[in-house]
Formats: sequence, structure tokens, C-alpha cells
Amino acid sequence: MTTTPHSTDLIRLTAAEMAAKLRAGEITSVDLTQAHLDRIEAVEPTLNAFLHVSAEEALTTAAEVDKIRVAGGAEAEKLHPLAGVPIAIKDLIVTKGQPTTAASKILEGWMSPYDATVVEKIREAKLPILGKTNLDEFAMGSSTEHSAFGPTRNPWDIERIPGGSGGGSAAAVAAFEAPLALGTDTGGSIREPGAFTGTVGTKPTYGGVSRYGAIAMASSLDQIGPVTRTVEDAALLHELIGGHDPKDSTSLPEPVPALVDAARTHDVAGKKIGVIKQLATGEGYQQGVLDAFNSSLDALREAGAEIVEVDCPSFDYALGAYYLIMPSEASSNLARYDGVRYGTRVLPEEGPLTIERVMGATRAAGFGEEVKRRIILGTYALSAGYYDAYYGSAQKIRTLIQRDFDAAFEQADVLISPTAPTVAFKMGEKTDDPMAMYLNDIATIPANLAGIPGINVPAGLSDGLPVGIQFLAPAKEDARVYHAAAALEELLGGKGEVIWQQIPDLASSSVDV
Ligand code: GLN
Repeated sequence: MTTTPHSTDLIRLTAAEMAAKLRAGEITSVDLTQAHLDRIEAVEPTLNAFLHVSAEEALTTAAEVDKIRVAGGAEAEKLHPLAGVPIAIKDLIVTKGQPTTAASKILEGWMSPYDATVVEKIREAKLPILGKTNLDEFAMGSSTEHSAFGPTRNPWDIERIPGGSGGGSAAAVAAFEAPLALGTDTGGSIREPGAFTGTVGTKPTYGGVSRYGAIAMASSLDQIGPVTRTVEDAALLHELIGGHDPKDSTSLPEPVPALVDAARTHDVAGKKIGVIKQLATGEGYQQGVLDAFNSSLDALREAGAEIVEVDCPSFDYALGAYYLIMPSEASSNLARYDGVRYGTRVLPEEGPLTIERVMGATRAAGFGEEVKRRIILGTYALSAGYYDAYYGSAQKIRTLIQRDFDAAFEQADVLISPTAPTVAFKMGEKTDDPMAMYLNDIATIPANLAGIPGINVPAGLSDGLPVGIQFLAPAKEDARVYHAAAALEELLGGKGEVIWQQIPDLASSSVDV
């Protein structure tokens, strides 16, 4: 087996290409992993995409894979196609032997006694785990500025945010710190950072990937999914992490569908693609985003797809419904951080040490502003006398949104819209205006409310910043979003290469942090 120097070229390959070179014995996993660790060391002072880097663990796994490959035989044959390709994990997903913080002071220093099911699968498949990525505290946000451990910067422009809540995973993949990452998407936290960083990200069908070990934000909306630079890579990772899990009571009984095959077929001739009227125009959409969207529609049309318009009138209420259902569930899920069972404990400065007062002091010191805002909103929406008016109405809207999707999918195989109304905004621009922050997710939230799959695929640049397009499909039809996204990726220049050639060289940037 030959060894390759830790070149920057190596980290710019797709995960599928890395895997092929590993299989062919052209590179070793140790070299590949070290190349990513070197990159992390070089750019982390600027980006802050990682909350924890696990170099030793990653290199141990890499050495194990290399040893199996060198020995050959049945063991080597049995290796997973992605074995030896490194991965980063959003710090909302629990990992044994590495801290899990949810980017919150309330979990600072906490070590999970168990692995999430997706992490177990990644370990079994022997992907070196590079570390845990930054996020908005408890995944509440759209910019990663709500992290208790400092914001992540966007590698395309370090004065801008990388999206959120999964800004760490998206920035790490965009900046070649990792070829693969895991995210979670409750209202868009995989897809919106994907749009802002030029990365591919999928929110799978609800129940398609186990949530066991994903720290709960809003349990009826949360989904773990892949973050990558190409559609094929996302499909490879999605197939690895997907499928039934008896430990998750909402897990679908079906095996994961054939997504890699779907991502390798690019023919859209005769396919019906529905433009969601409510999500493709209007106030708040930047012209550069609409231009990229329209160019994508033209490309799909020229390739033989039929573009139709679909009407989803209830989507106008999706954001309102989401910001009642999500905080209601979050307020209940976050009740467990009480300073008694695990995590941080803060004692009141004076007065008696009652359990209520310890809980109060712990939660006051441990949670950030945005988390507190949502807990208050959620407990209010669920309180006696308001439950029907707020939570109950929001659930009715949820049903109407599901019906809008059902009707739309009678007219089209997949639906399409811009993933976010704008490109990445400047740091600090929306931190004082929660409503402006919430509006980023206007296009991504309906899929979570309906439990259907969605993918973000890069669709070129607007003034040097990535624009993302979203495809949506009916529940359990995840293969359709991969097929459509791979087709668009191909039509726009193939595997996003056109985009990646233009990303600024971070080696020359530096910021005071
Ligand atoms: N940005 C949305 C929110 O703040 C979505 C978050 C997510 O998907 N985790 O709730």
C-alpha cells in the first residue's frame, strides 16, 4: 500500500472518491484522517465549527481499517463501502467517550453513557469520528449564533453566519474539515445551513433514521440526516444510518430505501416537478435567490422535466403553527435538565437549598436566552385555558399542511422551492430580532410538520455566496429527492465542482476570536 502526503487535494475529494481510493489501496485511512485533522487545526481558529476534536480516537479507527485492508480476505471484503472515510457529528447526538453538550452550558462536561443508534452504526462501519460540531443551543436557531460556546463562521465569508442550527456540521463539510457529517433537522437545521454553505443535506422521512440518542428538541419534528458536498455522498451516508430501530418507538418498520441508486440516475425526462406557489415568490426573497431558482427550473425543463405550479394555501400558517408546536414539545423535553439527575448543577447564592431553588438557579444559569424564550412560549401555549386556542389550533393547521402536500403530490412527483429566502446574512444582523431569525425557515418548516423528506442541493452562487434549492417528496419516497437533486447537481455542472472551485482559501483568513 502506498502512502500519500497530507495534501489539500485529498480533502477536496468526494466521500465516494475517498472510499474508492481506500478500497484500491491508493491511500490509507490514517493519511486521509490525518489530512482532515491537519485541516481542522489550520482553520478552526477562524471557523469554530467543532466543539470537540477527537484526533486520537479517529486515528485509532483509521489504523484499524488500514490493518484489515492490508490483511485482505473475508474481513476486508466485509468492510462497509465508507469504512475509513472520516465523519463529524453534530453535538446534539450522544457519543460514548466524547462530550455531548448540545452547545449548552447546562450539559457542559457531560459524557453520555451510551451511543446514539446512528453513532453505533458509524462505529460498526468503521468511519473515523473526527469530533462533535457546533450548533445553536439545543438546536434552537438559524445561524449558530445561539451556541453557548461562540458562533461558527461561514467559510464562504467569515463575516457571515453558516446557517443553523447545524452550522458547525455544514461549515466543517464546506471548509473540507470533514467529507461527511451528521445533522438534525427539526425545522430546517440541515437544509438551511446547507443552502448557506453550499452543502448537500437531507431531512429524511420522519422515522426513517433512528432518533435514539438525538437530544430531543421537538420529538414529533426532529430527524437526523446526512450533511455532505455531493448528493451521492448524502445517499451513501443516509443508507448507512437509516432503517428500523427497535429502540425508537417512532422508527418506521421498513428497511432504508435504495438511495444510492437513485442518486446515480440523472434522467428527469417526463418527471413532474411542482413549484410551490407560496414558497417561490414574495416578500423577503432576494433577487439573487430567485434568479438561481429560475435558472434551475430552466435547466430541469430543458432536460425534459415538466414544471407545474402547485398551490399550498395552508403554508402561510406553517411558521405560526411551528412556533407553537416546537416550543410546546421543547418545553416538555427540556424539563429533564433540573440540576438533579445529570448535567450542570448551580446552587442558589443565598437562602435555603430547596430542590425548587436549585432547579431554578441551575436553569437560570444553564440555559441561554433563546432556549428560555422557547420554554416560556411553550409552557404558555400548553397551559390550561390556552391549550385549545394555541396548541390545539396549531395541530389543526398541521393537518391542513399535510393535506396540501397530499394534493400537491397528486400533481407532481417532487416539489421544489428555494431552501431559504436569502443567502447567508451577516453575523449579528438578526440576533436582536427573533422574528427575523425565525423567518429563515419559512420554506423548510412545512416538511417537518408533514414528516416528509427534503433535500438541499447547491444551485450556484449569488454575489459569491451559495444559493440552495430544496426538493420534497411524499413520506417514504426519499429516493425521489435524491434522484431529483442528483439530476439538478449534474445539470448545474456535476457534483457541485463548479461551486467548490470558487470557495475562498481560508488559509489566508484570520479573525480575532
Ligand atoms: N431554525 C429552526 C428553529 O430555530 C429550526 C431548528 C432545527 O431544525 N433544529 O427552530
